[in-house]
This record gives sequence, C-alpha cells and structure tokens, in this order.
Amino acid sequence: MPFQEIERLSPNRGPAGHERLGVLFHHSKLGFAATIGRMQDPASQVSYHCLIDLDGTRCALVPETEVAWHAGASQFLGRTRCNDFLLGVAFAGDTYAAPLSGPQLASALEWLAARWSPLGWSMDRMTDHRQVSPGRKVDLNPVEWDRLAAAISGEFGGSVAAGSFPD
Ligand SMILES: [Zn+2]
Repeated sequence: MPFQEIERLSPNRGPAGHERLGVLFHHSKLGFAATIGRMQDPASQVSYHCLIDLDGTRCALVPETEVAWHAGASQFLGRTRCNDFLLGVAFAGDTYAAPLSGPQLASALEWLAARWSPLGWSMDRMTDHRQVSPGRKVDLNPVEWDRLAAAISGEFGGSVAAGSFPD
C-alpha cells in the first residue's frame, strides 16, 4: 500500500529549470510538523523537495521542476551549487538521536521508484549533506547513510560509490 503524500508548498524556492540529476538526502533534526512550519516561513530561507515522517508519510514542499534551498555551499559530481541539480529529500528527526524508521526507508524507496528510471538515476547520483558539505554539515549519521545506501542499492542495483571524503 503506498504511503500517504501531502503537499504544503514553501515560498522558499526557485528558479525553475531543475536538472534533477540525483538526490541529496538530509535529516531535518526537527520533527515533521515543525519542519513543515519552518519551511512555510520566508525568513527561514530553507526548503526541501520532500520530507518523510517517521510513519512514512511524505510532504511535498517544492515542485521538482524548481530549485529548493537545502544544500548551501556544497560540491558533488565535480560541481558546486548542488541545489541546482540535486533534489533535496529529508527524513524528519535526527539520525544521531534515533535510526531511520522502517517506514521512512520504505517510503524513500517508493519515492525513488517513481523517478529512478524516468530520470536515469544510478547509485552514484545519490548522496547526503555530510558528503557534499564536509566539515560543515553532519547529516546523515554515517551509519544511517550506509543503511539507506544499502537499501537503495538492494532495490535498484548498482554499487555504492566510494566516499570522496573521510568520515
Ligand atoms: Zn542537511
């Protein structure tokens, strides 16, 4: 049975013309409702494309054809400005305080499944905030990134890219 998905569009977005080359995963630290609230506030200047609650419910916050403001200074695939070409998907909560829930992982796989082939994604187009902003950001917990990467790789095939940065 598919997970529920709601939409709460954030004003923190743009421009249009997102490249959708892959996905940058985050944890939001705040809970689901508090994170949605923060992303409705223009003053926060932050947004994800999608937020996944502990029970697997997803909230769409920014249309995927538009840039969301989630990465900040970052580098991946030999490029800077990851916001321009990576969709931002966040798990509600803090992966250092609690592991990703089973429904969160399953919901992420369901979200990926709808996009993986149409957008030509592969395992080396998947990353997290810690890896693209080393020394500045710590999400995800490396243990939880490994769990997520193994789940994605198990579902869609392909090996996990070797990390470019030490943990
Ligand atoms: Zn992050």
